[in-house]
Amino acid sequence: MRVLTTFAAVREAREGSVGLVPTMGYLHEGHLSLIEKASARCDTVVVSVFVNPLQFGDASDLDAYPADLPRDIELATQAGADIIFAPDIREMYPAGPAVGVTVSDVGDAMEGTFRPGHFDGVATVVAKLFAGIGPDAAFFGRKDAQQLALVTTMAHGLGMPVDVVGCPIVREEDGLALSSRNTRLTDGARSEAVRLSAALFAASDLFLAGERHARTLRTLVEESLAVTPSIDLEYAEVADVDSACVIDEVVDVAFLALAATVGGVRLIDNVLLDGRDGSVDTGMRIDTQSVLYGGDTCC
Ligand code: AMP
Repeated sequence: MRVLTTFAAVREAREGSVGLVPTMGYLHEGHLSLIEKASARCDTVVVSVFVNPLQFGDASDLDAYPADLPRDIELATQAGADIIFAPDIREMYPAGPAVGVTVSDVGDAMEGTFRPGHFDGVATVVAKLFAGIGPDAAFFGRKDAQQLALVTTMAHGLGMPVDVVGCPIVREEDGLALSSRNTRLTDGARSEAVRLSAALFAASDLFLAGERHARTLRTLVEESLAVTPSIDLEYAEVADVDSACVIDEVVDVAFLALAATVGGVRLIDNVLLDGRDGSVDTGMRIDTQSVLYGGDTCC
């Protein structure tokens, strides 16, 4: 395992095929599942750890973002990473004219509406990582379904020779999607946060029973969360998995996504709905045998 801070050093150290796992650090089982997938497929696994200021609209959110690089190094190594790339702000954004990437349409709805400028920041940092490291494949979680659609669209649109791989959502045993932000939940908020995934699972059950109208699925989520005062739902939407365009009816593959603050902490989650065969994918649960606790992960 090597910890490197410049793009040039990563390019020099890489051998064979390269799998990149971009992260903002404070790793959890969701990140580790991506590293394991990359490790199974690529010769060199690079995990980037960079809290990207460009994608935070709210300075207090950026300041509150948790960080623990020594812990990240240990966990990433156990999961199969070969290189941790931890650049400073100047390596990522050298002084001089700002150069950015904007992907139209895909980032407009949902997160784009509630976090203006967020996806320009995401597209820019991911484009820089792709250009500076040159991975053969890059691994992203379906937890950020709109981000995955955006990155895939960007790579295709800019002709980047990288395979963008979407990986399942990893959840706590009770269903809450893992997130670095979960550490900021108070005990009370943590016990209420499980209602987010429960609402999505209830909507998936409705989908499994044959419901295809986005409005009905959304309403179920909205109504089941409205009864909890500490949960403030920003949106519940059904969107096409590739374009992230909001849709009215599930015909092909779509995701039902939500964003909400729980006790002031902003969380997102989604479930995948396949209108072609009527199946759903809600992700996977961790168990106590996982890497974080000393065994193999579930993925
Ligand atoms: P972040 O550090 O939050 O920027 O996330 C880095 C990568 O990990 C992104 O591709 C996320 O989608 C992915 N990720 C975060 N949480 C999860 C999760 N619970 N399950 C699977 N992937 C995740």
